[in-house]
Amino acid sequence: MRTITLIIIHCAATFPMQTYSPEQMRADHLRRGFCDIGYHYYIRRDGTCHPCRPLEQSGAHCRGHNRHSIGICYEGGLNVHGQPADTRTPEQREALLRLLAQLKQRFPRAVILGHHDLNPLKSCPCFDAASEYSDL
Ligand SMILES: [Zn+2]
Repeated sequence: MRTITLIIIHCAATFPMQTYSPEQMRADHLRRGFCDIGYHYYIRRDGTCHPCRPLEQSGAHCRGHNRHSIGICYEGGLNVHGQPADTRTPEQREALLRLLAQLKQRFPRAVILGHHDLNPLKSCPCFDAASEYSDL
């Protein structure tokens, strides 16, 4: 297993009424030249958590930080005007919290951050992940 120092949260940057399946995401990421979905987990609006890339493999989700991190993405992240917004449903919040708690158990020293914390030019994941999960 790789050394994991970071757990990085992302949003898919999709609109509230937009459905964005793991299959669509895979097709988009393959078009970008990735070998698979860039994230390790994808959490749908209904709280379903799809495992994507195996944890043993580096992801493709945060330039300069992929080697030692796990990438998690939730469906949403834009409001109806296309502006960055925390659009997580209660089901997504619950699934995300459950997943993060499990990962922290397996990788106790990993730090949970949002993409924005590593790249201030990005608003992803549109909420302050570092402070929301600081006590996990
Ligand atoms: Zn991101």
